[in-house]
Parts: sequence; C-alpha cells; structure tokens
Amino acid sequence: MVTFVDRPHLRDLPVSALPDRLRAAGIAMPGPLARQLTWRIHGTGALDWDELGLGRLRQTMLRAHFRFGAQLAPESVREAADGTRKFAFRLATGEVIEAVFIRNRSNRTLCLSSQAGCAMGCTFCATGALGLLRQMTPGEITEARVRIEAVTRERVTDVVFMGMGEPLHNYDAVMIACENLNCTDAAPISRKRLTVSTSGLTPAIRRFTDESRPWRLHLSLHSAIQEVRERIMPIARLHPLPELIEVMRAFQARSGRKWVTLQYVTLPGVNMDDAHVDALQRELRGLRYILNVIPWNEAGGAFRSPTWAEVKEFTTRLRRLKCPVKVRYSAGKREGMGCGQLSAETVAATQDRSAAGGHMLAPPGVFTG
Ligand code: SAH
Ligand code: SF4
Repeated sequence: MVTFVDRPHLRDLPVSALPDRLRAAGIAMPGPLARQLTWRIHGTGALDWDELGLGRLRQTMLRAHFRFGAQLAPESVREAADGTRKFAFRLATGEVIEAVFIRNRSNRTLCLSSQAGCAMGCTFCATGALGLLRQMTPGEITEARVRIEAVTRERVTDVVFMGMGEPLHNYDAVMIACENLNCTDAAPISRKRLTVSTSGLTPAIRRFTDESRPWRLHLSLHSAIQEVRERIMPIARLHPLPELIEVMRAFQARSGRKWVTLQYVTLPGVNMDDAHVDALQRELRGLRYILNVIPWNEAGGAFRSPTWAEVKEFTTRLRRLKCPVKVRYSAGKREGMGCGQLSAETVAATQDRSAAGGHMLAPPGVFTG
C-alpha cells in the first residue's frame, strides 16, 4: 500500500486516481481539464510548477494539496561506442541510480531502475552487491524518462525494468509508474513495450496475474536446478522452483500470453552443462516459453564471461527443448552499461560524496511502498 506523509507529488499519483484526488481536495476540474493536467504532468517534460503552464489561481490551489518539481539531480552521462548512453541521477536522499538509453534502428529503449540497490543479492550481479539502499517512488522512476528524453531529444518507444532493483519488490510504485508511462493522455508507451523483469518473487507474480496487469513480464530463471539457483540467487530459497514455475504457468493461462520469456544468464562452469538442459526440459513442462540467453557481463565475483563458442555450444544443446532461443546482445557492456553492471559508479559516487563531507538532503515527503 502506498502512503504519503506529506502532500503527494503529482507525478507519484496514478493518472487514473487524479480526478478523485482533485475532487477530494475540493478542486473542481472537469474531465477535459483533468486530462489536460495529466498531459502537462506526464507529457510535456515539465520539471517545476511554472513549467506546468497553469494559471496563477489554479497553481495556488494545487500547491496547497500537492507537490511538484524535480526529484532527481543529474549526476553524469556516459556514451558507449555503440551509442548506448548511461545516465546517473542522484536522489534527494543521496543515493545514485542509473538508467540506460539504447538506440537501434527502430526502437529507443529505456532501461529503468526501480530501486537504489537491490535486496535480492544475486551473486553474479553488481547491483545485488549493494543491498537495498531504498525504494524509488513512481515519480522518481518516471522522471528519469522525462530527463532522458529532454537530453536525447527523442521519444522513448520501449521501457524495460532491467536497471537497478527488483521491480516486483517495489510493486505498487512500479505498477503506478507503468500506468503513467502508458497513459494515452500524455506520451504513451504501449503496454506491449513495457516490460517488468523479475528474479522470481512468487507471491508478487501471483498478484500481477490476479490483477490482470497488461505489462510484459520476464522471469530471470538462470537455472532449473533448485540447488544451483539457490547458490546464485539467494531469493530462490524463499521461493522454490516448483512453486515459481507453477505460478508462471498460471500467469500464462490467465493472461493468454502465447509465450513467456525466461531469461538465462550463462555462467561457464555453473549453469551451461547437460544437466541444466535436462533440468529445463523436465521442470518447464507445460510452459510455452522463449529462452533469452544473456552472456554474463563482467560484474565482479567469481564468474567469467562465456566465449561466443561456449554460448553457441550451449544454444545448440538447447535445440532439443524445441523452444525459441534468443541471445541478447547487452548494449554498452564493454563500458559497464550492460545487464547486471549498474552500480559500480553508484558505489563510487556515494562514497565520494560522503568522503567530501557532503550531506544528504532530507527526504521530500517520505514515500513508503
Ligand atoms: N531485478 C530484475 C531486473 C534487473 S536485472 C531481474 O533480476 O530480473 C535484468 C537482467 O539482467 C536479469 O535477467 C538479470 O539476472 C540479468 N543480469 C544480472 N547481472 C548480470 C550480468 N552480470 N550479466 C548479464 N546479465 C545479468
Ligand atoms: Fe537484483 Fe536483478 Fe541484480 Fe538479482 S539480478 S540482484 S534481482 S537487480
């Protein structure tokens, strides 16, 4: 449940709730005007009250009940040789989060963070090493898009929650962010182009299914052998495989999705042998899935990246599963912008700030998810 201990920030509210919230605040705004306000909040790139372009009276009335304004401070932008750009932003409470803008021929994909750090502690992921620093609010999540569109001067076409954090561990905020990113009165990102990726929080996947959420859902599987999964993804101890696969089967049945996407980070010596192919064949029965193979990107720890020959050999062995297999090219991975590489600079930036005696700003009306 989302609760506010101060006036809510306008970008934190689900667009569907705005008319009621206005009414409750005694602000009369008929349908078309409320829609216009939605557009001003989410579709114009406004970052402060004056940029919302409201009349003085209306602004005064809104300010009595709501907050608005920037919540992210740009920290750095880096560009990789392939044109991928990584943006770092500082939250008002001091943590740094990152977002990656990936441009290809037809798509402009934004990889967004949902948390500063992550509580799941996957041993192959740089973000996992940070632990959970804090949840992000819906407004902070979507402001990254506003800021990045302003810098790139391009409209984002696709959003993937594959940056820092486990999106289903910040369920309410991420669902609001998805709704607002998808809002047709602003700058809509089609529901088919909004993807939430999860490490496998079974109860949250069940809730996502029960609530008929229309966004795409990818599961990070990485091994169909329980003991191995537990070793590389500690969360698997809490949510074991049989239950997780069952919930994915229910998700597929209820949502009518022809395919579900399972992500599989390839770690030589860990999860690429015949026993793993057998386990996939055995455990995933009844699920129609696409296997998205992600060659591990350097992120510290006791792993090494597979060679292309190893990836090829593994995907050849996967043929007997008779499922579509895709190999993901992680954009900007040489420059630390690929899957699982977001954090190194966060640690450095956070440490720099404290070493310099910098202070943390007070939270802007703390938001608890
Ligand atoms: N927390 C979510 C989404 C963020 S990570 C999740 O785990 O699904 C997005 C994808 O990158 C996940 O499939 C994740 O397992 C994978 N990943 C993490 N670290 C990686 C690394 N070092 N190399 C390649 N992929 C990695
Ligand atoms: Fe968190 Fe995903 Fe990284 Fe695991 S892979 S630590 S869930 S961000």
